[in-house]
Amino acid sequence: MKDDWAEKLSCATHCYRCDHKLDPKDLRILSVYDHQAICMACKNDEQERPDYEEVSKQTIGQCMIDTELQYGDPEGYCFHHFYPFKC
Ligand SMILES: [Zn+2]
Repeated sequence: MKDDWAEKLSCATHCYRCDHKLDPKDLRILSVYDHQAICMACKNDEQERPDYEEVSKQTIGQCMIDTELQYGDPEGYCFHHFYPFKC
């Protein structure tokens, strides 16, 4: 269970939002709204939302609390919402 999120999310083959194909070498990032892997274009759209700043602040706080119990590396998981990564 420890690295489950990494396998599921970091190696997503498609953007959860627009279904755009994601190559293992393509950058992707986690949505602060639903914690799914999305492409950078969708992340840009997300950042345009009026409530983005508010939601992202709440997400990082809640994320640290939630993942501490469920995952071995809460920082790794939570920071994936803010730093693009590859598979
Ligand atoms: Zn997308």
